[in-house]
Amino acid sequence: YSGYYAWRGILDFSGTENSDTIMGLRKAYPELGKCLVFDLVPGSHVVLYELKNKRINWIWYVNSEEPEIKGKSVTMKVSRDMIEKMHKEAYKIWVPELARVMKETEEPFINVIYDCDPLEQVVWDNVVLIGDAAHPTTPHGVRSTNMSILDAVVLGECLKKWGSGNLVSAPKEFQSIRLPVVTKQVLHSRRMGRIKQGLPLPDRKTFDPMVASPDECLELQHKNMPFFSNAPVLADHV
Ligand SMILES: Cc1cc2nc3c(=O)[nH]c(=O)nc-3n(C[C@H](O)[C@H](O)[C@H](O)COP(=O)(O)OP(=O)(O)OC[C@H]3O[C@@H](n4cnc5c(N)ncnc54)[C@H](O)[C@@H]3O)c2cc1C
Repeated sequence: YSGYYAWRGILDFSGTENSDTIMGLRKAYPELGKCLVFDLVPGSHVVLYELKNKRINWIWYVNSEEPEIKGKSVTMKVSRDMIEKMHKEAYKIWVPELARVMKETEEPFINVIYDCDPLEQVVWDNVVLIGDAAHPTTPHGVRSTNMSILDAVVLGECLKKWGSGNLVSAPKEFQSIRLPVVTKQVLHSRRMGRIKQGLPLPDRKTFDPMVASPDECLELQHKNMPFFSNAPVLADHV
């Protein structure tokens, strides 16, 4: 468990593009529509971005004891009461323009955030784990799907290189290429989440956006993700 869960929601603003809520949000966050927008306060952060078809996706990370979830899904059912409490909190923490978006979102829900310590192997003979099964990660690297797709690409390339008759070398090469990459990415994503949530880390002081130095802020940039644009596909390219 990461130490926090996320309130999430998607506000559909088709037909209400010129409403006070949407105009206010665009004024509060002028970059919205061009990139992922982050807002940070001590001990919490929110991510929002515009989706196709006039929708705003928002994700608000909240430090907490591990919530009790039923079944295997990380998505938690929420009661009316919980939603009302969330709205009240939102007005205390975020600019009113954002709190209003949260309030007007139909059916917000909670995702509890987990990852897994990197595995020492993802290959057992001809059995290969790829994607989330191999490396569930927190979302702060904004990379989870890319990691899964690249696993599939690399596995495909290895199988092509060694031929379907050699199911020993191809998985081995796959593991040697991907494991070092995904290991670093999972740990980096975990670290980014803890920094942004103001949670302790052994090698740095707790992050507080109100007094953070420019260097500390640069540390949060997505491009710092290991192998951001140069993850190897075949061993010859390493
Ligand atoms: C709420 C949420 C939001 C996310 N948002 C983002 C995002 O914005 N960007 C991003 O990059 N990533 C995001 N992710 C992560 C992303 O969805 C995963 O990293 C990605 O889907 C992993 O792909 P996968 O193929 O490994 O696993 P999955 O997409 O989970 O696919 C596994 C498939 O296997 C099936 N399956 C399971 N068990 C069996 C079985 N026994 N037999 C047959 N089939 C089985 C499942 O039904 C599923 O279809 C999000 C994840 C969640 C939960």
